Amino acid sequence: MTKLAIAALVLVVAAGTTTATRQTRGVKVFISVDMEGLAGVVSGSDVSPTGPDYAHFRAIMAAEASAAVDGAIRAGATEVLVRDSHGAKQNILPGDLDPRARLLRGQSLGPKNMMEGIDKTFEAAVFIGYHAKAGTPNAILEHTSNGNVIDFSVNGVSLPEGGYNAVVAGLAGVPVVFASGDRALVDQLRALLGPIEAVAVKEEVGDASNGLSPKQAQDEIRKGVELAVRNRAKLKPFVIPGPYTMTLTVKQERPLYKGAERVGPGSSRFSSPDFLEILNAFNAIK
Ligand SMILES: [Zn+2]
Repeated sequence: MTKLAIAALVLVVAAGTTTATRQTRGVKVFISVDMEGLAGVVSGSDVSPTGPDYAHFRAIMAAEASAAVDGAIRAGATEVLVRDSHGAKQNILPGDLDPRARLLRGQSLGPKNMMEGIDKTFEAAVFIGYHAKAGTPNAILEHTSNGNVIDFSVNGVSLPEGGYNAVVAGLAGVPVVFASGDRALVDQLRALLGPIEAVAVKEEVGDASNGLSPKQAQDEIRKGVELAVRNRAKLKPFVIPGPYTMTLTVKQERPLYKGAERVGPGSSRFSSPDFLEILNAFNAIK
């Protein structure tokens, strides 16, 4: 064999090995599902267990999550983990979710919270039913974590929930490839994360929601997630280089976290080389 032929053979064998390795490892997709950005949701009572229409919207939450699961599997996912990410995290009734996915439900106590369950074995992360950060104009049910937060910034970057959750995914080397929510959420996450696939299921008009029917939203989510998971290699994990300094501004001040300092009315600052420790401080002071 000539040197060139040997080189070609080595290349072919190497390519075959890569494909085989990928096939045995499988493709794992992580889906975090919030409620405020679901089709039709417009008020706090829609997403509160005591609200008159909560049963309707928790069924829509399961249906949008299931549409995302279906899209991921159509794109080749071999394992899908759905994280119920709203409130007490017991909104999706297990029997309502596409049975091909696993469901992580209930409070998890750790700093990963809405991203609990993600690790380096996943290839892509998907956000469903997400909402824009506190103070965003023309947004439906915009807030950051709870009603007390005015702004949460890390190294000068103001972060919505989809932003710091994307950093958590990024720490595991996982890119966020898709998000759904209202128009403001889609614009905000694309500005922060780059050209991810997204579906705006509604937009704000005054304090009202003008949006797609749940069925139409589910169809678009299925198609969008399928495309996004197929094209996942085009997106890089979202990384804010450490070390990290957070500045948190709240309406009602709470006791400071160990090592945090008060820097103004309602404002505190905390630094750490560990992003999860930043989230611990955020959760303690917010
Ligand atoms: Zn929520």
